[in-house]
Amino acid sequence: MAGERIQVPRGTFDLLPDDLAQREQVEQAARRVLEPAGYRRLETPTFEATELFARGVGASTDIVQKEMYTFDDGGGRSVTLRPEGTAPVCRAYLEHGMHRLAQPVKVWYLGRFYRHEAPQAGRYREFWQVGAEAVGSADPAVDAELIVLLADLLEELQVRDVVLSLSSLGSPDARSVYRERLAAHLRANEGRLSGEVRERIDLNPLRAFDSDHPGTQEVMRDAPMLLDGLDDADAEHFARVRGLLDDAGVAYRVDPTLVRGLDYYARTVFEFSSGALGAQSGVGGGGRYDGLVEQLGGDPTPGCGWAAGVERMLLAAGGRPVPALPIDLFVAYAKEDMRPEAFRLAAQARRSGLSAQLELAGRSLKGQLKQAGRLHARWAAILGDEGASLRDMESGDQRVMAPGDVVAAVQRGERL
Ligand code: AMP
Repeated sequence: MAGERIQVPRGTFDLLPDDLAQREQVEQAARRVLEPAGYRRLETPTFEATELFARGVGASTDIVQKEMYTFDDGGGRSVTLRPEGTAPVCRAYLEHGMHRLAQPVKVWYLGRFYRHEAPQAGRYREFWQVGAEAVGSADPAVDAELIVLLADLLEELQVRDVVLSLSSLGSPDARSVYRERLAAHLRANEGRLSGEVRERIDLNPLRAFDSDHPGTQEVMRDAPMLLDGLDDADAEHFARVRGLLDDAGVAYRVDPTLVRGLDYYARTVFEFSSGALGAQSGVGGGGRYDGLVEQLGGDPTPGCGWAAGVERMLLAAGGRPVPALPIDLFVAYAKEDMRPEAFRLAAQARRSGLSAQLELAGRSLKGQLKQAGRLHARWAAILGDEGASLRDMESGDQRVMAPGDVVAAVQRGERL
């Protein structure tokens, strides 16, 4: 009995061959931009011990509070589909003793991430991120290098209308003092805040900057700004990051309300958004996370990194058409009994390093040549009683030869 059709789960999507061809370009671009700067690829599992994110990302964050796919692995251990990549990279850094390597350790990754959010354009429950992390150096040149690399990647992918926002959250100590001041400001204006912000005054007052509630936004307009209260070392660090970006010709806007959703950031935070996207305009962002490795049980170790959403980058790039991969040879046959010979020729061509396809749909000879054209085949071999006619699909010229000579003729590639 035919059942109801089963569809892809909400907030997820299939990647069809054309989609993947586009994504291969993203992967190649990431490699091209990041590897010459010394970033090498590292991949971590798609699920981790829940504790990693609870401790690493922060218990008060939206991600940990509402968005994690957490389940029992069947053996009484709680695991979570990774919502982000920085905490896993820092776990791997510790687990493999990478502090013994030359510092900073620079890595990049590309993979799937999971957040239980309400799906909308550009927001999915399973999505892809490309990310880069440099662990083991507090040098402001690391922050600037990472920002420049993400700017280069976005440019390479032709992401449109890109704006870079930049801020500094200072050190964790300065931040906790600031949090108290901000919480006091919020409490003094409690009546004008949204319910959600009010409930989280103590838990995470910084998130009030992200609220789209008009009353809350008004209150935030007179809120004290963290950026105005940086201590000397943090202010100096931030000034040096900005100076390096100025030198590199990367435009940015200092945005004191940029807080980002994760607890582990300290000092530099940044976000690239695109005017070509709707409400979900963030294409990529990151920052410095000097306390994270220590929080995960390591020695105090500075770090900095970013992640960019692959779907958002592609959306904001406006979907470049993917050129069909041309093939070298299409093997056609004039008569049904030539099929075994055609099969052999196609297999031999592939073993010789050519891309070759065989007629598989029982088309007429005319239909087969049409198909060769659709596939952008450079050559077509038509097997018949007199041998193989090798056709130059560009000029239409044709020459008869022994089937055994076809591969060599294609490899020579001279016009007929
Ligand atoms: P975040 O660390 O949350 O700023 O995420 C980094 C980037 O990942 C964002 O700028 C987005 O491009 C992308 N991203 C985050 N969450 C989602 C989601 N639910 N669906 C698609 N892309 C996302």
